[in-house]
Amino acid sequence: MMASFAVFALIMSGCGNGDTKKTEDQSSKTAETSQNNATAQEDLTTKNTEKNEEVTRDAGGYIVDQELPKEATYINDLLIASKKYPLPADFAPGESDEARAAFEELKAAALLDGFTLSAFSTYRSYDRQVELYANYVNRDGREAADTYSARPGYSEHQTGLAFDIGEVGNEQYFADNGFATTAAGKWLAKNAHTYGFVMRYPKGKEDITGYMHESWHFRYVGKDIATDIYKNNSTLEEYLEIGK
Ligand SMILES: [Zn+2]
Repeated sequence: MMASFAVFALIMSGCGNGDTKKTEDQSSKTAETSQNNATAQEDLTTKNTEKNEEVTRDAGGYIVDQELPKEATYINDLLIASKKYPLPADFAPGESDEARAAFEELKAAALLDGFTLSAFSTYRSYDRQVELYANYVNRDGREAADTYSARPGYSEHQTGLAFDIGEVGNEQYFADNGFATTAAGKWLAKNAHTYGFVMRYPKGKEDITGYMHESWHFRYVGKDIATDIYKNNSTLEEYLEIGK
């Protein structure tokens, strides 16, 4: 049961812009995903005990029967959006001015080193996420859609603090882990924290964040916290000591 859950946790995308479907996360799907009978969900459901509270997760790693909350969750003053802590449907802050200003600084620094960065996807409203997810479910079915698109209320892009970053001229690597192999991707991974951004879903941390690696998805948390997380090779979940 746990093994099945781990497999699905690995292939979940936090971005949900649909551009990730061709990447390695798809080929990492195992034969287990081919179960398409009516009992598949039941078979793949697993139970996690977290702080004496038993929660049941579905094949997508989402908590079964979880309702979106009335309030967004802040832990140590940091807004969090994850499978454990979704956002209210009416939470619509728009893109953060502070995060945008930090990105502009980051972009200017990158340019001095010869890289032209682009934030190709930032704030995404709940309604837009509803639209995107419905289209993907319609096209590919729910199980497949869950592997590359966040469900409405669960996308970090709804916080206004998530920036998908790529390099102008290398658009083929937008929302693609091929970005990690480029000089610009390496520069960003090494320098983003100086401007307050952390790579939100690092490689090797899939079972901690609950999402597959996304070398392009960055979350603004401010310079101090970003530097702490970067230097400790950590994640937002580990920094806040919360579950995925
Ligand atoms: Zn993203």
